[in-house]
Amino acid sequence: MTIWVITIILVIVLIWKLTGTHRQTITASTDHQGHDKIAQDEAHIECPLVYNGNELEFSDDVLNTVLTRHFSYYNHLLDIDREKFIYRIKKFISTKVFIIHDKKGYREMPILISAAAIQLTFGLKKYLLSHFNIIQIFPEAFVGLEPFRILIGNVTGNTINIAWKQFLEGYKNKYELQNVGLHEMAHALYYQNFETELSNDREFKDDFELFKSIGDKVYHVEKILTIGLYSEYAERDFQEFWAESIEIYFKSPDRLQLHYPELYRALCNLLNQDLLNYPNHLFES
Ligand SMILES: [Zn+2]
Repeated sequence: MTIWVITIILVIVLIWKLTGTHRQTITASTDHQGHDKIAQDEAHIECPLVYNGNELEFSDDVLNTVLTRHFSYYNHLLDIDREKFIYRIKKFISTKVFIIHDKKGYREMPILISAAAIQLTFGLKKYLLSHFNIIQIFPEAFVGLEPFRILIGNVTGNTINIAWKQFLEGYKNKYELQNVGLHEMAHALYYQNFETELSNDREFKDDFELFKSIGDKVYHVEKILTIGLYSEYAERDFQEFWAESIEIYFKSPDRLQLHYPELYRALCNLLNQDLLNYPNHLFES
């Protein structure tokens, strides 16, 4: 009986800790990188910062400002699609818990990482990646366990983990094909549809078959020829090949189309986006 009472008290304290003390208000103060802090006074903050997405309540104006400043995909959209982007990102954020392992909690962190998911799924009907309710953000590369290794991102259980520094580099550096945000969202999208029973997208699953059959051929060609689009890492298994295909598709669609036009078409068909022909054919369905 006493054990039960103590357990209940502990659970109440834990919930209070998670929801109460770590909640901070959003400030408009801007640091030297142009990031606006979520938390106000670093000295009194416990790490990690935990934010329930449904309590963040970013206004359309704040979302528009952050996306316009940092997210070129958004800037290329027609007005009507920007409205759709804002609507979707708000919904996406509201369904996630963000755990930030950094006293410097920037509002750009939840917004831009969610934006990577919205970018990937923008042509799809199901975009919430509902299996993944936790997004963890690390300031830099972090340690992954089992196996023990240094990571810049991974997807495990119901959590998407991303290193913020490398996430930003993925969007800033136009000459590198790497983009860890899109890479991890691609894994999450795959797991959501193929490894869980929840909220599967039938059309996506059907269209994935075409990507897989064309992708298999390219995967074997890339193992022999070194065109330079895919890394050695992508040649290790098809799941990594899929995630890197998404990075290349968004970062250098013209090169993907030049070398592997069939694969480019299969990705357009799968994602219902055609980056090279927007606004004529971006969102096909
Ligand atoms: Zn991967």
